[in-house]
Amino acid sequence: RAKIYHRADYSYFTREMGVEIRERVRMMHALRTAFEDERLFIVFQPQVHIGSGKPIGAEALLRWKTEDGTLIPPDQFIPIAEYSGLIVNIGEWVLRTACLELSRIHQSGLQDFRMAVNVSQTQFSHPLFLQLITSALHDAGVPPENLELEITESMAMTDPDLLIMTLEKIKAMGVRISIDDFGTGFSSLSQLQKLKVDKLKIDRAFINEISDGTNDGSIAKMIVQLSQSLQLEVIAEGVENQLQAEKLMSFGCDHAQGFYFAKPKNKVELHTWLQAYL
Ligand code: C2E
Ligand code: MG
Ligand code: MG
Ligand code: MG
Repeated sequence: RAKIYHRADYSYFTREMGVEIRERVRMMHALRTAFEDERLFIVFQPQVHIGSGKPIGAEALLRWKTEDGTLIPPDQFIPIAEYSGLIVNIGEWVLRTACLELSRIHQSGLQDFRMAVNVSQTQFSHPLFLQLITSALHDAGVPPENLELEITESMAMTDPDLLIMTLEKIKAMGVRISIDDFGTGFSSLSQLQKLKVDKLKIDRAFINEISDGTNDGSIAKMIVQLSQSLQLEVIAEGVENQLQAEKLMSFGCDHAQGFYFAKPKNKVELHTWLQAYL
């Protein structure tokens, strides 16, 4: 009897797996076509001074709109772009496009404005990544100091030595590095010091805790203190209300990104939004 159950489970399992693999392959082809047909686009979410709401920069966020108008969230297609290798070309396009947009913002009069770009493991370990950064900055004519690359803690675990080496070269170019979703990965504090990053982005889970009654935002507060003792910049992600903003200010966190201040915007919307600060 046990055997029969086992066989039934087994065939069920493989059938499900077959469906999942086919679905992934379908998504991969669709993503490649979408990229070629220019159905991927970038939105920009402002990052601000918490106290004044004034912009300091923006994060470039990738979007995929299918032919029938459905928006597929990046959390669903970035993993597919990564394991298929498509992320290398897509990521290059994101970086170049973000730098060009940064150049336009600088020309409009906001010279200190920074652009943050998410970079995945596959891009980071690509042998031509450093050349790509140089070329993207050069072609757009923007200073390296105004570009910020967002990496994740998990990247520190895959190949720490390669990561440290690459980071040093990027830092030597003058480009800034921040750790995205900070606090959710498992990087150790000693690793953090070795990585010599510029900035920590407090994951929005810890910002949520400020107002959902879990606690008073003790983890967010701790990350702010950590950033101060390591002399790093810090920014809070996913700030959705005034209470969170005020608490964060009381913790000594100066910068924020979140729907409370501004939602991700297309180019035109971003320029309109920035007009007020020129
Ligand atoms: P992330 O880098 O941590 O980006 C922040 C995410 O939080 C964005 O989701 C943003 O829309 C969302 N967000 C911002 N403020 C709020 C808020 O107040 N409340 C809530 N609930 N959410 C907020 P999005 O755009 O869906 O991106 C998800 C993730 O996809 C990003 O997380 C990033 O890891 C990845 N991603 C996006 N674009 C790229 C890209 O060009 N390259 C790579 N490698 N990854 C990307
Ligand atoms: Mg990010
Ligand atoms: Mg994040
Ligand atoms: Mg994320």
